[in-house]
Amino acid sequence: MPQEVLMEAAAEMLDWHGSGMSVMEMSHRGKEFISIYEQAQADLRELLAIPEHFKILFMQGGGLAENAIVPLNLSRGGTVDFVVTGSWSQKSAKEGSRFCTSHVSASNEADGHTSLPDPASWKLSPGSQYVHICTNETIHGVEFHQLPDLKALGHDAPLVIDFSSHVASRPVDWTRVGLAFGGAQKNLGPAGLTLVVVREDLLGHALPVCPSAFNYKTVADNQSMYNTPPTYAIYIAGLVFQWLKRQGGIAAMEARNQAKAELLYGAIDGSQLYLNKVAHNCRSRMNVPFFLRDERLNEAFLTGAKAHGLLQLKGHKSVGGMRASIYNAMPIAGVQALVDYMRHFETTQG
Ligand SMILES: *Cc1c(COP(=O)(O)O)cnc(C)c1O
Repeated sequence: MPQEVLMEAAAEMLDWHGSGMSVMEMSHRGKEFISIYEQAQADLRELLAIPEHFKILFMQGGGLAENAIVPLNLSRGGTVDFVVTGSWSQKSAKEGSRFCTSHVSASNEADGHTSLPDPASWKLSPGSQYVHICTNETIHGVEFHQLPDLKALGHDAPLVIDFSSHVASRPVDWTRVGLAFGGAQKNLGPAGLTLVVVREDLLGHALPVCPSAFNYKTVADNQSMYNTPPTYAIYIAGLVFQWLKRQGGIAAMEARNQAKAELLYGAIDGSQLYLNKVAHNCRSRMNVPFFLRDERLNEAFLTGAKAHGLLQLKGHKSVGGMRASIYNAMPIAGVQALVDYMRHFETTQG
């Protein structure tokens, strides 16, 4: 979270804009909260340049719930293509198989999720209802730097993207997307808010068993207020959107994220001790997993990092090693501090 946003939220905690209420105490149908909601929608639409024929839905349940909610709404019980590039897309394919015929069209499992299968090699099923990809694999550190153009591949199904962990870190080419979803907690705000951006023509085809609160058309027709939305999380995300605008918007964030990633990957590649195994053309700018070539130094590395104020660097248990998540809110100075520590550790202990 950007510190500026936390300070703003703290200052407004007890009394939002002279309303005499905390945002937590407002009715979601009152004029105060409606103004917060409408501003957040408008700011997000502007930031991500979301075209008018896409709806922005503020939902709950997180990315994992969307693994069920998307097929409930879009699969029509038919076949769905999944491209497996790491843990998250693997989870999506597995959950999807409960609601549709889940077809794995391509997978990078053989190389330990360190590459991106070339879209031209994907075995897409004729007549599939949609194609699911995870555009940034948070655990394995694999990112699509460009969205696949399904039309150019001769496949007319909509593309569904899970952009949970890099939403708002770079622009989105909406001409290639049918639906995008993401939990807010990585790059937009607190946990509890799930963002869904969906092309209007994809609404209204939910399976009869789809819960009403998870039916995109019902949610869209009720401006995300069919049931009570996660009001406080929407408010904080709205403050983050305003912060993003003050930073210069998404293009400025992309440039900054690119510089941060180059600094960190440069330090890893230029060292004798650290190693990143992901192919250069798909290295994530948000999540950078890396290893110490001598794994016996892991504990000493983490202890020293903590002493330097560098926290949460331990890698995901399924991958091991280290992982630096350098989301939008991480300033370049934070990445510089990590790189300085890594060099210091290598010279003194490596
Ligand atoms: C974190 C994450 C999720 C899971 O989100 P939850 O909110 O915990 O359900 C899904 N997909 C990706 C890519 C993620 O990084």
